[in-house]
Amino acid sequence: MKAEIIAIGSELTCGARLDTNSQWLSVELEARGWTVQRHTTVADDRAGMIRCYQEAAQRCQLVLITGGLGPTLDDITRDTLAEAFDQPLVEDAVALKHIEALFQSRNREMPERNKVQALRPANSVSVHNAHGTAPGILMKLADPDCTIAVMPGVPAEMKLMFHEQIVAQLPQSGVFVVRTVIRTFGFGESDAERLLGELTARDRNPEVGITASNAVISLSVTARAATAEECEILSATVCEQIRERLGDAVFGTGDDDLHHVVADRLLQRDLRIAVLEGSTTGGLIGHWLTETESYATRLTHCQLFPTAAAIPSDDSWESELRQQGESLIRSGKADYVVLSSPGFLVREDNGVRRQQGSVTVFGRGLDSSHDVSMTGNLAIFRERAARIALNQLRLHLR
Ligand code: AMP
Ligand code: MG
Repeated sequence: MKAEIIAIGSELTCGARLDTNSQWLSVELEARGWTVQRHTTVADDRAGMIRCYQEAAQRCQLVLITGGLGPTLDDITRDTLAEAFDQPLVEDAVALKHIEALFQSRNREMPERNKVQALRPANSVSVHNAHGTAPGILMKLADPDCTIAVMPGVPAEMKLMFHEQIVAQLPQSGVFVVRTVIRTFGFGESDAERLLGELTARDRNPEVGITASNAVISLSVTARAATAEECEILSATVCEQIRERLGDAVFGTGDDDLHHVVADRLLQRDLRIAVLEGSTTGGLIGHWLTETESYATRLTHCQLFPTAAAIPSDDSWESELRQQGESLIRSGKADYVVLSSPGFLVREDNGVRRQQGSVTVFGRGLDSSHDVSMTGNLAIFRERAARIALNQLRLHLR
C-alpha cells in the first residue's frame, strides 16, 4: 500500500530548517509494510497546501502531515485541511479541555489564540497530544479511500504521537518488511552492480538497492512477505548470494564501518596499533580508533603531521615515518603501524584538481602500500584513504 508524507512550514522551504520528520516517518512506515512514494515540503501557503492534500489523497491510501498546528496566524493546517475536503471546522471539547488544563498546570492563563488549536474538520477526530498543546488530527476519507493523519511539527512531539496514537489507527498494510544492509568496501557502485547481476533488477523480492557513501558501498536487501518468518527466509537467501558474489569485499552489516571491524579484531586478539598520519588521512584513523574507550585501548601511539612542511624534505618523509613506526614495533609498543603521507593538491593542465597521497600498513607479516590519489574533494579523499588503510588491516586480520 502506498503512502505519502507532507511537511508543512515556510521555515523548511526557505532552507532555515531541514525537514527531518519525513525521513523519520518514512523509516517507520516502510518497516510496517508501506511504500512511501513521495515527500512534499510546502510553505505556509493556503492554496499550495490545499492542492497538496487533495493530490496526495488521490494517489495513495495514507497521507502523513506534520507541522502548522501551532496557535499563530501562519499555522493553517487545520483550516486548509477542512477547506480541502469541504468540511466545516468544529471545536473539539476534549481537546479544548486538555489545552486549558495544560495552561493551568503551568500556572498560566490560556491566551485566547490557543483556542484555535482545539479546532478540527468536522469529519475528523482529534488526536491527544500528551506532550504539548497541539492536538493531532485523524481523518478517514471514503472517496478517495485515504487516511490522513496530521501531527505537530516539533520532532519530539511528532514521534511520541506517532508511536502512542497514530500507529494503532493506521490501516493494516498486510505486509511485513525486513531490511538488511550489507556493507562492502573495495568496489565501485557499477562493479558491485555487475557482480550482483540479476539480483539488483527492479521488481524482485527481496529488492537489492545499492548506495555509495565515502567509498563504502551499502547493499540494502528489502524483503516483503505476509509473515516476518517468510521475510527472514527470503532475505537470508539473497544475503548469502551477495556474500558469495562479493566475497572479501563484504565487511559487515547495518551501521558497521571498517574501523569497528578492525578494532574488534584487535581487541579479540589483544593486538595494538600505532598511527602516524599526514594530511592524506588528516587524523581520521586516530579519531575513529578513539571512538570508544575499548577501541582506544588498542591505540598506543597517535601522531599527526598536518602539512608537508612539518616533514624535513619532500622525499624523506616516508623513510622518517617508516623508521619511527619500525621503532614502535621493535620496542613492543605496537603490533601494527598505519602511516599516511602528507597530501598534496595538484592542479593538472586540463584544470582537474587531483588529491595525491599514499597509505602504508605494516607489522606481523603485513607490509602493504597504496597510492590513494584521486580527483575529487578533500573530505572524500581523506575518508577513502583512511578506509583503504584500515581495509588492508581488516583483510590481514581475517
Ligand atoms: P509547527 O508545528 O509548524 O509550528 O512547527 C514547530 C517547529 O517544529 C518548527 O519551528 C520547526 O522548528 C519544527 N519542525 C516543523 N516541521 C518540521 C520538520 N518537517 N522537520 C523538522 N522539524 C520541523
Ligand atoms: Mg509552522
